[in-house]
Amino acid sequence: MAYVITQRCCNDASCITECPVDCIRPSPKDPDFTTTEMLYIDPQTCIDCGACVDACPVDAIFSEDELSKSLERFRDINAAYFDRHPLEPDMSPLAIPVRPDKSLGTLRVAVIGAGPAACYSADELLKRADVEVEMLEKLPTPYGLVRAGVAPDHPGTKGVTSMFESSFKRQTFQYYLNVEVGKHISHAELLQHHHAVVYAVGASSDRHLGVPGEDLPGSHAATEFVAWYNGHPEYADRTFDLSGERAIIVGNGNVALDVARVLTLGPDELAKTDIADHALEALRNSNIREVVLLGRRGPAQAAYTSSEFLALGYLKNIDVIVDEEDLVLDDASQAAVDDPDAEPSLRLKVALAKEYAAKSADPARKRIVLRYLVSPAEVLGSDKVEGVRIVKNTLVESARGLDAQPTDETETIDAGLVIRSIGYRGVAIEDLPYDERSGTVPNENGRVVVDGEPVRGVYVSGWIKRGPRGVIGSNKTDAEETIHLLLEDFMAGRLEAPTGGRAELAKLLADRQKDIVGRDGWRAIDTEERKRGKDAGRPRVKFTSVDELLQAAKG
Ligand code: NAP
Repeated sequence: MAYVITQRCCNDASCITECPVDCIRPSPKDPDFTTTEMLYIDPQTCIDCGACVDACPVDAIFSEDELSKSLERFRDINAAYFDRHPLEPDMSPLAIPVRPDKSLGTLRVAVIGAGPAACYSADELLKRADVEVEMLEKLPTPYGLVRAGVAPDHPGTKGVTSMFESSFKRQTFQYYLNVEVGKHISHAELLQHHHAVVYAVGASSDRHLGVPGEDLPGSHAATEFVAWYNGHPEYADRTFDLSGERAIIVGNGNVALDVARVLTLGPDELAKTDIADHALEALRNSNIREVVLLGRRGPAQAAYTSSEFLALGYLKNIDVIVDEEDLVLDDASQAAVDDPDAEPSLRLKVALAKEYAAKSADPARKRIVLRYLVSPAEVLGSDKVEGVRIVKNTLVESARGLDAQPTDETETIDAGLVIRSIGYRGVAIEDLPYDERSGTVPNENGRVVVDGEPVRGVYVSGWIKRGPRGVIGSNKTDAEETIHLLLEDFMAGRLEAPTGGRAELAKLLADRQKDIVGRDGWRAIDTEERKRGKDAGRPRVKFTSVDELLQAAKG
């Protein structure tokens, strides 16, 4: 018997260090670690000890005997990875983490943001040094996209927060929630009170399609819709027209799949989750029966992960529709799939699309339709969205592999709602350099640079460092890289000692923001939300306005 990693895998690799027989791959040292969809356990080597189960922050690992029907296929998915990458013992010397000598005194670091990248950065610092960490976050709540991004029907993924909760109990860690950098404190002031500042602010904006009609009422960014259904206070008052029977989502990444599920799951399923009450109410009255996803490239290039694509097929009372004609691969895609060295996840993506295409649909059920090789050319409508004119694409070779190129063939699809799910985008941070093209802060492995020269004491971690790619646990190795350099700089005397300490910072912030939420305030919010959830048979019922959150923080 072996253990099996399943759909929820967050790639944070906590399981790898705990495995006594080193049978989980890829490891952060492997070249495919940054691109892998998930981690896998070698069934031939696993000794069934279960150490990985305890280490997994999102409960993604099960004994092969206990796999539910929807997860059974992961047994073969784990094994297939090792057919392609036979397990090699890792003989490289153990990397000993750098640890500053006590004689250097207490390192003071401000971490800006409270999402996964910020939390992994703070956690890494707390483990590695005599340190005081101050975490500053604009919202009165921590956890960024874990709270406001992860889909409500993926509660296991949100379990990662319990790992941070226990780490952040230390008195050397301090929350300053409801505090905005640039408004309540400047970058220069942060540096006066800390040796270093780590910006882990994510990518809070969205990308545009640049097609006519994109700004019509009824056309929205997925970032907006996701923040709305997850109860982000800045998006709670948004409205979405759910009166039509069809919605179109542009893009086919995992966010597009999240949005498609939320639009089709139905109120009974959603009512078991922590979805915001306002969204639950709106979706209760929704008429949407069909969601069409527009993928600009083919099924072999789809941006979703195969595990999330597989999970779509197990949604109750929802058909997944794929047209067989869309699955005729061009020569280059076919060659990539047939390549004996092809990643099993690529083959699985194409195989799953074929399985969906072969299934018959029930007109009485809601449906998620996946279209491939199509792009929106225009969002149609006079005063609100009425449809989308799409153009068929072909694939052409490019630097990144195969790119979509429009043909002359067009088609119109009627729809009352259009959601563009074409990726997040980082925004510029005051007083920091910014690369407009990538939407990131220029950096070398986390050290912020200007003209190739490091900016003293300034670091980045997460999506603002590497762009909006990767799952929650990808931020762990990313944070380790940044914090490693920060500690090296501290030990080499490259950081300037702060002129103000913890007490001075507390005073400065208290003078400028009377409603700071600290650890106790967050605990009070969390307890009250969970209590409201328990009363309603849900994990939590979120407060969705800053006023409500501040009231709850006062206990
Ligand atoms: P993504 O994975 O980068 O997908 C973006 C999609 O938009 C792709 O299909 C892309 O097509 C398409 N696109 C981009 N520009 C376009 C244009 N101008 N016209 C038409 N289509 C366009 O981004 P995401 O879905 O926002 O996800 C961000 C990250 O979060 C990903 O790493 C994702 O895996 C992760 N995430 C994970 C989960 C999960 O594990 N459950 C859930 C949510 C998000 P091309 O591929 O052709 O560029």
